[in-house]
Amino acid sequence: MRIIKNVLQMQKVALNHVKNGDKIGLVPTMGALHEGHSSLIAKSKKNDDITIVSIFVNPMQFVVDEDYLKYPRTIEKDVEICRKNHTDYVFVPTVNDMFSVNHKTFVEVKTLQDILCGKFRPSYFRGIVTVVVKLFNMSYADRGYFGMKDFQQFKIIEKMAKDLNFRTKIIPCPIVRERSGLAISSENYYLSIEENKASENISRILKEASKDFKVKDLNFVKESVLDKLKKIPDGKVDYAEILDFNDLSFAGKNTRKVVFAVAI
Ligand code: AMP
Repeated sequence: MRIIKNVLQMQKVALNHVKNGDKIGLVPTMGALHEGHSSLIAKSKKNDDITIVSIFVNPMQFVVDEDYLKYPRTIEKDVEICRKNHTDYVFVPTVNDMFSVNHKTFVEVKTLQDILCGKFRPSYFRGIVTVVVKLFNMSYADRGYFGMKDFQQFKIIEKMAKDLNFRTKIIPCPIVRERSGLAISSENYYLSIEENKASENISRILKEASKDFKVKDLNFVKESVLDKLKKIPDGKVDYAEILDFNDLSFAGKNTRKVVFAVAI
């Protein structure tokens, strides 16, 4: 396994693999790696000749500086996890190398970026998509791996890749959960023991809702979920929406596959 810290070096190495006819998989992360990330790496190892894991805490997707500085950084442990998962390259670009002081170009996915989490964090998705586009161009990835834990992010990147004719195929990966049902997340580090416990209710409530869908109408399911979510100790519901799985429009009677997105 090789660690690369320089953008030009990454491009050079990746281009050599392209010339050799290797298929390249990219797993973009912000570090603080856990089993969720490992599952993405494992999927790339299965599909691709070469697996690149990028670790970059992206300042452009944080609204407040403080959050950016607070984000967990565990680079030594991350490198070990990458090694255990037989990663070929760990790409750790610096902020200065990623963004020149004169950086002026941003990528936006209209509409999709403005709903759900985008309503609460303006320019959040623009920051993510801009960096992902850059990482695709630095890694020459044939496939990019994204967790369905961040479903809106996955949909936005999928749309961007289609609209901009990227040859990188976007591969969705299932959510890896704690035994309690809580989705594993680097951001769970911020939770106190009590908050962690309270968060376990979210997956339980959604699991119950997935059974209700079979017998009840959408509005009933939504209202019953909202009622339950509001009872989570210290929780404040930002949104709870039932959406079309394909395009994130509001789901209706005839929607064939739905996603229930909640933020608390
Ligand atoms: P992050 O480092 O949090 O930006 O996540 C990097 C990638 O790993 C994203 O595509 C996430 O959706 C994915 N990911 C993070 N946690 C999980 C999880 N528990 N299950 C599946 N994918 C995950």
